[in-house]
Amino acid sequence: MHNPGHRFQAQDHFAEGAQYIAGRLAKGTSGRSHAVVDPATGDEVYTYELAGTADVDAAVAAAREAFPGWAAATPGERSDAMHRFAAVLADRAEEFAQAESLQCGKPIKLSREFDVPGTIDNTAFFAGAARHLQGQSAGEYSGDHTSYVRREPIGVVGSIAPWNYPLQMAAWKVLPAIAAGNTIVLKPAELTPLTSLLFAEAATQAGIPDGVVNIITGAGKDAGEHLVGHPDVAMTSFTGSTAVGRRVAEIATSTVKRLHLELGGKAPFVVFDDADLEAAVHGAVAGALINTGQDCTAATRAYVQRPLYEEFVSKTADLMATVRLGDPFAPDTDLGPLISFAQRDRVAGFVDRARAYARVVTGGEIPQDLKHGAYYRPTLVADAAQDSEIVQSEIFGPVLVVLPFDSDEEGIRLANDTPYGLAASAWSRDVYRANRATREIKAGCVWVNDHIPIISEMPHGGYKASGFGKDMSAYSFEEYTQIKHVMFDNTAVARKDWHRTIFGDR
Ligand code: NAD
Repeated sequence: MHNPGHRFQAQDHFAEGAQYIAGRLAKGTSGRSHAVVDPATGDEVYTYELAGTADVDAAVAAAREAFPGWAAATPGERSDAMHRFAAVLADRAEEFAQAESLQCGKPIKLSREFDVPGTIDNTAFFAGAARHLQGQSAGEYSGDHTSYVRREPIGVVGSIAPWNYPLQMAAWKVLPAIAAGNTIVLKPAELTPLTSLLFAEAATQAGIPDGVVNIITGAGKDAGEHLVGHPDVAMTSFTGSTAVGRRVAEIATSTVKRLHLELGGKAPFVVFDDADLEAAVHGAVAGALINTGQDCTAATRAYVQRPLYEEFVSKTADLMATVRLGDPFAPDTDLGPLISFAQRDRVAGFVDRARAYARVVTGGEIPQDLKHGAYYRPTLVADAAQDSEIVQSEIFGPVLVVLPFDSDEEGIRLANDTPYGLAASAWSRDVYRANRATREIKAGCVWVNDHIPIISEMPHGGYKASGFGKDMSAYSFEEYTQIKHVMFDNTAVARKDWHRTIFGDR
């Protein structure tokens, strides 16, 4: 059972509202309210007023006002503030973990060991990286001038985040943006505002000036679209589904904004016949089930070379069946519910439709003892055709599909055969084979003999319909900065040589 004494009290903490504008909580003014539901119990844990367009305008105005001062701060000053930010997050780590598990139904061990420490590390990374923003070296490229490149912030960034890793997604958006001297308005998903609000609150506590980090909690259609189209927002950074990403791209493009899109995924997991089967089976189960499969890089399509196929299917099914579903706050729970009952039913729908053309080896059901929450059993599906819905569509739940292949070429071709290209893994003991897979698989990340780990120093972002642009790492500064060519004349003469093109020989 939950112990309410150890849970985050959202209604008390955010009694003043779920908008964070210019360093203060405020109520939304859309006239509509929304309930955050604990998906493990179905209980409402926080009801708040959604942001309307006026709240978006107020947040953008606050970010715009804060921009000149924050952009003019030295990299050292921004870095100091962000180091303090990391320290505040570390001090409040348990509170963040509890709030994240409460709103998402994530097992507390995942929040404590992955989401929260990952966010603290990201913050510390960008605190350091803030001092390493560089332009290219200066030089006399024309002979008569000195040229150099300035790297400058863009202005007010408007960001939109999904519900699967609310804290980490907020961090991935906010940190590179502010490290580079921008200010930001972030819209978290309506289902999961709590840790984005805590994150902004911690920024203020660390001394980051009011208006640098603002949170707008509203619906995608009105608050989200208004933010993307806002004339005072210079850049849009979106993480979410490919379908919504297309709409966001249309609005951002029509208002001529810098655009960064982190979209859906359908990661292949390619097991060659010389792979360590034990490692591949454990990697597949953990890689498919992390965060109840609601992970854009989760292993979703296992392609297994024919000699290992049957054994892989039976061992993976057996291991999946040992994963313990239950109360997210119990320390031994491995798998929590999905984010909502609607998402659970969506996942169940994919599996139920697949029964007509494929074999559900394990799972494929709602556990009756946990039906008060949005739980779904870890599911392995075999014998589906490559072009079937369950192989091609992003399910975003604890479902792994497994297919056989014969030649290495076929395995790589099948791995590349979806619209997505976010992440992939290759499993082999042969360095040449694995290296070939890393070259030929079209994805923003390819792991070898592992699947899932991420680190602050390395970029995350997609190929193909998984989007473009990078989160994390120094590469993210390419998104959140613009470069300016500065050119000084060195001749000090009134009649420049190139003026001949206008004045001829006069
Ligand atoms: P979603 O696209 O439904 O929503 C994402 C965000 O967009 C939410 O904040 C939502 O309110 C907002 N939104 C919805 N309609 C909008 C509109 N018309 N205009 C502006 N904003 C709008 O995605 P989701 O269901 O919250 O998250 C799951 C998706 O996110 C999956 O597809 C997953 O793969 C993807 N994702 C990708 C990454 C990545 O790094 N590539 C990371 C996490 C999640």
